[in-house]
Amino acid sequence: MPLWEHYHRPSTVDQAIDNLAHYAGRARILAGGTDLLLEMQQGRTSPVAAVVDITQIQEIRAIEEADGYILIGAGVTHTAITHSALLTQKATSLVESCGVIGGPQVRNVATLGGNVAHALPAGDGTLSLVALAAEAEVAGPQGRAWRPIDSLYVGPGKSALNHTAEMITRFRLKPHAAGEGSAFKRIMRPQGVALPILGLGVWVNVVDGLIAATRIALGPAGPRPLRAAQAEAFLAGKAFSTELLPAVAEQVLADAKLRTSPHRATAEYRTELILPLLARALPLAVRRATTGHVTPEGIGEG
Ligand SMILES: Cc1cc2nc3c(=O)[nH]c(=O)nc-3n(C[C@H](O)[C@H](O)[C@H](O)COP(=O)(O)OP(=O)(O)OC[C@H]3O[C@@H](n4cnc5c(N)ncnc54)[C@H](O)[C@@H]3O)c2cc1C
Repeated sequence: MPLWEHYHRPSTVDQAIDNLAHYAGRARILAGGTDLLLEMQQGRTSPVAAVVDITQIQEIRAIEEADGYILIGAGVTHTAITHSALLTQKATSLVESCGVIGGPQVRNVATLGGNVAHALPAGDGTLSLVALAAEAEVAGPQGRAWRPIDSLYVGPGKSALNHTAEMITRFRLKPHAAGEGSAFKRIMRPQGVALPILGLGVWVNVVDGLIAATRIALGPAGPRPLRAAQAEAFLAGKAFSTELLPAVAEQVLADAKLRTSPHRATAEYRTELILPLLARALPLAVRRATTGHVTPEGIGEG
């Protein structure tokens, strides 16, 4: 049985939405195909009447700064993100996230939109978008609307998007201002590119030596990407020092629901990893916020 009967390559968002509507629930969007094609091949996604390939839509392939936001097209590849000087300076953790996804072959075709639409609670691009408080522009039959990134996640691999009628067109986030910095760190099984154990994205705002605000995103630590709200509240108003890290880790653990997954790690091991992960990411984000100096780390290390 073929995996699809018809293959469309629209050149505008409107055409893509029309294509989806035409098949009334029996068509799927294809971007890089690194998740979708495997799922179809392995029978985890049923064959469809039509595939709507969005790679020819120029509008969703740009990275730009406008009206106080950084705008990133949903069709931008992870490689393009890691090569962006704008994102390196002003959305650093996103560059670090996308720079460790898969290997170069995956990063060259896989997109940020696909990473979010796939809705895994530990999607690497996802975790930084959550830490950076990004929003997604979703296009559908009723037009376009901006939605907070967190609102797109329902459960593991379950997106709030209607996959057969809607598509993400762009993401927007505030660029780092003076006193702001971010970082992303991940711990992997050493023997595989596809088995991350835990990822952590952090954004901080330091004012007069004190932490004015923090956002900490962790995954997998629950059915959706986790915001460590108790740790964020704990840090507010404090002067950062590495001596705070064990207490921050305790606060993160108070929110996290870590579980054992057979091929990756036990819940106990993941619990042990919170402190070293924080120790890698949080001081780095604070240093970037206070010095303004940014050199992304870990790109290509998968
Ligand atoms: C070998 C390998 C290693 C990987 N390693 C990692 C890793 O380290 N970290 C990680 O996070 N992921 C990893 N992945 C998963 C995958 O590469 C990423 O999630 C990638 O970003 C998916 O993007 P894509 O463009 O290929 O999505 P696709 O496969 O094209 O689409 C995925 C899903 O999103 C939908 N979709 C795509 N674009 C849109 C859009 N604009 N609007 C609405 N729906 C859309 C599709 O219909 C489909 O349901 C890996 C995959 C492979 C094969």
